[in-house]
Amino acid sequence: QTVLALETSCDETAVALVQFEGGKFRVIANCIASQADEHSKWGGVVPEIASRRHLELMPFLIKEALIEAKTGFESIDLIGATVAPGLTGALLIGSLTARSLAALHGIPFFGVHHLEGHLASVLLSDEVPTPPFLVLLVSGGHTELIRVNKNFDYQRLGRSHDDAAGEAFDKVARLLGLSYPGGPSIEKIAKGGDPRRFSFPKGRVSNPGGGYYPYDFSFSGLKTAVLRQVEKLKKSDIDLPLSDLAASFEQVVAEVLVERSLKCAEEQGIDSLVMVGGVAANHRLRELMMTSSKDISLKVYLASKSFCTDNAAMIGTAALLRLISGGSPSSMELGVCARLGLEEASRLYDDQPPF
Ligand code: ATP
Ligand code: MG
Ligand code: FE
Repeated sequence: QTVLALETSCDETAVALVQFEGGKFRVIANCIASQADEHSKWGGVVPEIASRRHLELMPFLIKEALIEAKTGFESIDLIGATVAPGLTGALLIGSLTARSLAALHGIPFFGVHHLEGHLASVLLSDEVPTPPFLVLLVSGGHTELIRVNKNFDYQRLGRSHDDAAGEAFDKVARLLGLSYPGGPSIEKIAKGGDPRRFSFPKGRVSNPGGGYYPYDFSFSGLKTAVLRQVEKLKKSDIDLPLSDLAASFEQVVAEVLVERSLKCAEEQGIDSLVMVGGVAANHRLRELMMTSSKDISLKVYLASKSFCTDNAAMIGTAALLRLISGGSPSSMELGVCARLGLEEASRLYDDQPPF
């Protein structure tokens, strides 16, 4: 089975071809055009610009993907596209392109939940987990701990109450004068920095019933703490120690993500942990997760770095997984939805379109 997959939920226009053969997923084309440069001068993603660029780039990327895979529409069995969550105008470009192509070539259409795509990215690794497992999903818009009881059965156990981890990287990068997206810029400058020079707080969220939510996160206080430290340093008239600031920030984010995930896995009696999403590409976080998990014999599965940040290969893999699990395609009338929880992903395959 071969899928053509489109991803346009944010500022990456991506097209991929993925095959399922002999029990394995294989990426046969993976094309991504990042618009990051265009948005960086605004300090974040401008929705109107994103939609327009998706529209302009899409035909070229589809052509490029087919050439890369040395194939044509005659060998494509299904078309998948991200339909939720994300920027409405951006999602519409991918969804409409996919539905038009599906109608034209008489092949089924699968509307894919973006986070189900991030989860599926781990299926492209050499070692693949089987449910039940715990997922730490850390991206630009989400920081969640999700228990996957069986395929497509999701239970959220933790989340961020304010900024997502990736958002914290982006905001801290901005206040350090580093370029967007913040994750890669911080990672680069943090190399060689002293991660112990500054101690920043590990945000916790208190529970109105007393105590703390044990698996929830808060990153807005951390961002403010970095800002205060920068202001203090600026007064002292020395050059900002950017490497040390970045390394100390990165360290505390990695620690808090790892500590809470491990605690959750232990208390829930789960012995496998999956880490996906853009922030999961972070080297310090990957290292810390791998070493810390050994102490409690937790098996960790990481998405490979190239499939952590937004791409269409993960979207195709998610669509294929639905298909091979006996799922039926989405309705051609399925729209797009800016906000939709992962627990509701199955609604994308109902006969009655949810939106
Ligand atoms: P969502 O998936 O929640 O809708 P998104 O699609 O924008 O959000 P992703 O593409 O998964 O998010 O990830 C992008 C985020 O990951 C950005 O915030 C970026 O700064 C962060 N990121 C990317 N690479 C790294 C890295 N090496 N270290 C830390 N953060 C990173
Ligand atoms: Mg992006
Ligand atoms: Fe994403």
